[in-house]
Parts: sequence; C-alpha cells; structure tokens
Amino acid sequence: MKVLFQNADTGDNFEHDIIEKELRIRDIAIQIMKKYEIKKPPFFFTIMKENPTKETILEEDDVLSTIIEKKLDEKTPIWFRSSELHPDMVYKLRTERFEMSGYKLIEIGQKSVLIAGIGLIGADLAAHCATIGVKKIFVLDYGSVDWYNIYRQILYYKKDVFRPKVEVARENLEELGGLEVIPIRIEIPSFISSYNNPKLIEDALSQIESYVKKADYIITALDTFSARMTIQTLALANDKTLINTAAGLIGGVVQLVRPNVDPCLACGVYFERTQDIGACTLATFGTPKIIAGLTIDLLLDVIEDRVVEFNHIKFTPNYELEKGFFEKGSSCIFCDSPNGIIDSFQKKNKKPLLDWLFKTS
Ligand SMILES: [Zn+2]
Repeated sequence: MKVLFQNADTGDNFEHDIIEKELRIRDIAIQIMKKYEIKKPPFFFTIMKENPTKETILEEDDVLSTIIEKKLDEKTPIWFRSSELHPDMVYKLRTERFEMSGYKLIEIGQKSVLIAGIGLIGADLAAHCATIGVKKIFVLDYGSVDWYNIYRQILYYKKDVFRPKVEVARENLEELGGLEVIPIRIEIPSFISSYNNPKLIEDALSQIESYVKKADYIITALDTFSARMTIQTLALANDKTLINTAAGLIGGVVQLVRPNVDPCLACGVYFERTQDIGACTLATFGTPKIIAGLTIDLLLDVIEDRVVEFNHIKFTPNYELEKGFFEKGSSCIFCDSPNGIIDSFQKKNKKPLLDWLFKTS
C-alpha cells in the first residue's frame, strides 16, 4: 500500500510502500533524512477522522498501519516539516522569485565570480552573489575578522573574531545551501603588502592568477589603489571582465572594465605612491550598501548579456547617481598596447608589474 508523505512547506512528495506491518514514524523519518540530506529528524502531522478540524501531531513511536486506518481519508497526506531542507531545494526557494522577475537563473548559476576583498563592500557582494544564485564564489582576502568588522560587515559575528575572513565567509555562505565558496587566503601584492622580495610576489601572483583563470568575473572591493592594479592586471591579462568598487567620504563608485572595451582603472589617474591608503572604512553607512547593490545589478546585466551603455556609476554624497562612459586616455602605463604592464603580463613578462610594485617613488 502506497502512502503519501508531503513536505508541508515545499509540497515535495515522498511516497512509501508500507509493507512491514510494524513500520513506525521513526523509520520514515530516517528515510527522509537520508533522501533530503538533512541531519535532524522532521516532525509529522496529519488529519484524523476523530478530529477533522485540526492537525494531529504524530509521535515517532506511532505505527503507520494504525495511522493509515485513523487518517481522514486516503487522499490526505502525512505531512512532514523540517527546519532543514535539501541544499538544492534551499537554492530553488532562495532564487525562484528572482526567476519570476525575469532573471536568467540558469546563466547565473553557471557563472563563477571572484571577489577580491571581503570587507565593507565585499562582504555584501559575496552575500548578494550567493542570494541571486551564483553557485561558485571565490573569496580572496588575507585578513581576519576583528572587533570593528562584526557590526558592519554582514558575514561576520562576534564568535568569528580573530578567524580568517575567507574561512568564516565560506562557512556562513555555504550554510545558505546550493553553492560552493572557495577561500583564497593570499596577501595581494601591493605597495603596502609585506612581501620583501620579488620572488615571493611572483609566487603570490601565480597562485592568485590560477584562481582568476577559473572565475568568469572578477570584482574588486579593495581599499588600496595598488592592490586593485594587481588584480586588474591579472583579470585583464586573462581576458576577464572586471568590476571595481569603491566607497569613501565623498560617495562611491562602480566601474566596469571589459577587456578591450573600457579604459582600465589606471587610465587618466594621476597617482602618488604615498596616497595608497584606504578610505572605504570612513564611508557613510548607506554608501557601501548602495555600491554593492549597484554592482550586483551591473554584474547581472553583464552575465545576461544586456546592452550596457556606461562603464562608470557614481553615487554622490547628495544621494545622486551619475552614470557615464569613460574613454581610454591617450597613454596609460597599464593598458597601453603592446608595451603596457597588462600586455606584458599576458606575454608572461611579469617584470613591468613587479617594477611598478617595487618602485620607490
Ligand atoms: Zn589604462
């Protein structure tokens, strides 16, 4: 005799042939836990003839053949409810409303995103990527959770203080279900990184590059210009689209850099080595949130191949958004061809980047 068990929240059906006379609710619970990869037994309820207006909670020792006799009718299922769901089901429930509003879930699920820096903007970005259905997220950060992070950066809690951010991010994001997070704890070579010789920088670059190659899109949420330049070089040398984010006292910026389409982050920037300090941490409360949200919308435009007629969005301190299209400047040490730093890197010549990172003035 077939008995229908139904997940009360998702409508998922679980049919079971009741052959053994002594089969109990507990036995079904074990099978459901196995099928849906959940760790805690669900609880069960149904509607009985003797009490047709109210659900009756079933006990784990209840014998199924007795329940079936007393159940309202054959069509009434035995419902089960669990605080856990199969990861695929969690993914479906999390994303189906985006799908209803027109997002191409299949395309989004097939893409992977590397987020460099999971701090004030990057933690939001990582969480948002997981929410919209990106199934593979690389998180690159060398830092640990500190007492300042735990009330501003949504991935970290008090219990996480002193732990590497990438490990905590992986745990908390994978808890959402249906995605894989790859933690990369490598210091990004920059003017202020702690590497004391070019060989160590080269090793770090090779390691980071191996992940950049595996990701479809690269997003930078870093607080120094030189670290952004390093990631930009790795991204563009591998023909990956980059989205750069920044927030500070004077608002925030999202910049799109498609290989061979947009100017790079260094184009037209006059930059002094001594200015290489982060200001993201001083942004207003709302600015990083707005920047992260805009970045995700732009990422979706790029993933879903919509026409993007701008490559720069600025959020001003007066609550205004300014969109613009930046053109490449006349000369740029990074993206000039054929002798720029990025072109050289692509041709396996890392020296120009190393020279730039190590220059003393
Ligand atoms: Zn450039």
